[in-house]
Amino acid sequence: MLRVGLTGGIGSGKSTVARTLADLGAVVVDADAVAREVVEPGEPALAAIRDRFGDDVFGEDGSLDRPALGRVVFGDAAALADLESITHPAIWRRTAELLEQAPNDAVLVHDMPLVVEKSMGADYHLVVVVGADEDERLTRLVRDRGMSEKDARSRIAAQADDDARRAAADVWLDNDGTPEQLEVEVRRLWAERLEPFNDNLLHGIRVRRPDALTISEPRAEWVAEAARLIARLERALGERAVSVEHIGSTSVPGLPAKDVIDLQVGVVSLDDADERAFVDALARCGFPRVDGTTRDNGKDGEDWPKRFHGSADPGRITHVHVREVGSPGYAWALGFRDWLRADAEAREEYAALKMDLLAKGLAPSDYALAKEPWFDSVHERVLAHVAHSPG
Ligand code: ADP
Repeated sequence: MLRVGLTGGIGSGKSTVARTLADLGAVVVDADAVAREVVEPGEPALAAIRDRFGDDVFGEDGSLDRPALGRVVFGDAAALADLESITHPAIWRRTAELLEQAPNDAVLVHDMPLVVEKSMGADYHLVVVVGADEDERLTRLVRDRGMSEKDARSRIAAQADDDARRAAADVWLDNDGTPEQLEVEVRRLWAERLEPFNDNLLHGIRVRRPDALTISEPRAEWVAEAARLIARLERALGERAVSVEHIGSTSVPGLPAKDVIDLQVGVVSLDDADERAFVDALARCGFPRVDGTTRDNGKDGEDWPKRFHGSADPGRITHVHVREVGSPGYAWALGFRDWLRADAEAREEYAALKMDLLAKGLAPSDYALAKEPWFDSVHERVLAHVAHSPG
């Protein structure tokens, strides 16, 4: 089951996107609706709220007076924490129930305003953010929802800003145009990414990079992308992973690279990486194992053992290299990255080599092989850098 976190600032069009995704076949869990449901009459959380906050936050008919409760907890961190300690467990229980009811092959969309504010990105395979210009959002809230401009502004100000949302977004849906344009974007996202990602997850299939080799100009987003993937891998593997790090050319700011995020998972022993639970945890997280890739070409033709997982996400090619902490292959990946990050001349040399090889029109696998002699030739310089760096 593909889990998608759908979020966006108030008035951005998040609910509109959720409706389209539901029409397309997604199972949508609406976090706001769940939060209302758990405090309906007869729910245990409601009794707990009355015990803690008294009759003043209830209407005459016995239902929760949300504005009154809002005034009590607004600006009172302790009261808010008390309220959340009552409602959150009930919300998570209900959410878990709804998830269990969803069929295993469904695309699940959690329509959740606070994904960014609560740093929940690692709970999902993908975070989709709906974005729109702030003035446009204000206009829509005042026009369509009958909010006062002041109210709309203060709600917008209380939420995460667009920079934080962009850093959390695997997919950014721009909603500055018409509703029809938004719908086209959502349908495309569904057909090109969510459905195939879900199919790949179900069947343990990884996405392969294109046959033709293309090298991109350095992209600033690679670092944030890797950070999101690392958080998911750490969550999936827990103590089975000693470390998860961004390695390879996309981890070196300023270096042109194939648009592939390389990650290295450090394990105590490769036996751990061969355990069913390890392999399954990575596959469920979106990184199925690629059997048959069990080594790297090390220095002077040495065999450096590893395990290798690809990505089920057609929108993001990722290579996950699992290596024993402290093994030569593990140390090389980190040392080479750190040397390139620290040494502008080394970066230029490597970029020039890439461009040379690109001009030869090699296939990606031949390209990887053709870089080996250069790797061997810089080995001493990398080791010297590692030996002289602090830590
Ligand atoms: P959110 O759930 O993010 O708060 P909604 O989906 O409810 O936002 O959208 C806010 C309002 O703006 C709704 O009334 C919706 O119909 C309207 N709306 C959404 N997208 C557009 C758009 N592209 N152009 C004009 N109005 C829009």
